[in-house]
Amino acid sequence: MSKRLVIGNWKMNPKSLKEAEALFKGIVTASKDSKNVDIVVCPPYPFLTTAKKVPNKKIKLGAQDTSEMLEGSYTSQVSSSMISSLGATYVIIGHSERRSIGDTDEIVNKKILQALKSKLIPVVCIGENVRDTHGDYLALVKYQLIDCLKNVSKLQMKNIVIAYEPVWAIGSHATRVATPEEFTEMKIFIRKVLSDIFDSKVAHATRVLYGGSVNPQNAQAFVDATADGFLVGRDSLNPKKFGAIIAVCK
Ligand code: PEP
Repeated sequence: MSKRLVIGNWKMNPKSLKEAEALFKGIVTASKDSKNVDIVVCPPYPFLTTAKKVPNKKIKLGAQDTSEMLEGSYTSQVSSSMISSLGATYVIIGHSERRSIGDTDEIVNKKILQALKSKLIPVVCIGENVRDTHGDYLALVKYQLIDCLKNVSKLQMKNIVIAYEPVWAIGSHATRVATPEEFTEMKIFIRKVLSDIFDSKVAHATRVLYGGSVNPQNAQAFVDATADGFLVGRDSLNPKKFGAIIAVCK
């Protein structure tokens, strides 16, 4: 079994470079005794180099998004090769906060292909906005996987992480946290879809993370429910809490 993976998504936080440095140092200290866990921190783009300067061998860096374009006249866009050249190795793609401002599955797919070309590991976010009683949310997740992973090869799947993030469970507007049972069912479903697209070997080797209001109190139950790790929002801004979530994944 591969190591569990814990990813912190800082979103548009903290307010300044100085605070970013202090936060990153806090996370380095809080995660010192974390053997057998892969840890990734995804700060906003301007803070990637700050984090890179803090001495530490353990924590890898990731970006929160990438452009679907290679290079050129695209004001404000940041390309995968730029991210890679800053020393980051992961990139979150298809986060619901990006999808809500226009990232379709087609765009997510283009971003994944660009990221792979630059040797970044895409953390592909999927998940439904609401759960209906007819199971339509399962079809949505299925087509998110099919459309987002179009033209990705079996070999490239070795470098892809799936983060199941039900939108209703994310952030301060969450209606509730998903139950560990809901996650287990969804992980089985995701593996079935990956098996149909690729094969069962790929399906079993792909790490499936849970994201949505993860905290030190509920993390163990998700690990017991076979989560291969977490994508953490709010609690990644608190080194003590983030360290406690990492400790659960040891
Ligand atoms: C997220 O936005 O990806 C997320 C999981 O946020 P939170 O942990 O705050 O729910």
